[in-house]
Amino acid sequence: MTKRTHTTPPSDAEARRRALPVLTYSVEQLPSFDAAFYNRARAELSEVAELTVPPRDAKAFEVPAGHFFRIVSVEGPQVGDLNLWNAHDLTERFYSGKTRALHATHLTTGDRLWSTFPTLRPMATITHDTLDWYGWDEDGAGVHDIIGTRCDPYTNLLLKGTEYHRCCHSNLTRALAAERALPLEEAEVHVHDVMNVFMCTGYTRDTHQYFMKASPVRPGDFIEFFAEIDLLVALSACPGGDCGASHSDDTAKCYPLNVEVHRPLERVLIGWQSPPPNRYSRSHGTR
Ligand SMILES: [Zn+2]
Repeated sequence: MTKRTHTTPPSDAEARRRALPVLTYSVEQLPSFDAAFYNRARAELSEVAELTVPPRDAKAFEVPAGHFFRIVSVEGPQVGDLNLWNAHDLTERFYSGKTRALHATHLTTGDRLWSTFPTLRPMATITHDTLDWYGWDEDGAGVHDIIGTRCDPYTNLLLKGTEYHRCCHSNLTRALAAERALPLEEAEVHVHDVMNVFMCTGYTRDTHQYFMKASPVRPGDFIEFFAEIDLLVALSACPGGDCGASHSDDTAKCYPLNVEVHRPLERVLIGWQSPPPNRYSRSHGTR
């Protein structure tokens, strides 16, 4: 709450506040992260594609199931806004809210990126993160945010009264439209809340408001994902640059981001299977 309260606490307010927190989800019941399997798979990789996302722009690319992709910092600290779709069905896409509830507000090695209902399955697994040393800092911030959404021209217009067209939302929309030859309006509805790769964020301790601070990422750092299903990926190099001061304008120093797609040896994937869609009956109690 950013505003003062107006009500008087009840006499047992303290006792009510002493209720113990319980983790909302028993995540130990999820399929476990098989580090040995992923480490074997990433031990010998051959690069099959490489591309550069220019500053204040986005690119879309496909990653077949069983391949790895890396987002690499080059030239200078830069935040990337990431969208994931099932390459064969754009209605199955990354579900940042449920991923946050299952894992945490910020992601690192071993965490999965889950898809929307009704499939709710791991789309990708994070298999390496050179920034995992960062942990949680004294402001309560962490790296690789899934609490933010994406900078967008609508919020920007509300707050500043001006139009800005290089927000991640617009960049991702243009990239998806170009990749799938879709009209802009059709592409836009598929753009969704992102994983803010390399972005350092948290909630202020006193008012629990969303804040950002300069990303600790430096050239050479990378985050690596294993594609659990055939993926269509879009990545925007945020106009906020390292997001240490502003976004949604042309003032921040921005850098490109590199993307590499790698294929592991065929034999290490023997026995591995793409996760099936969620098996819930979808009856919702009607039969
Ligand atoms: Zn952005």
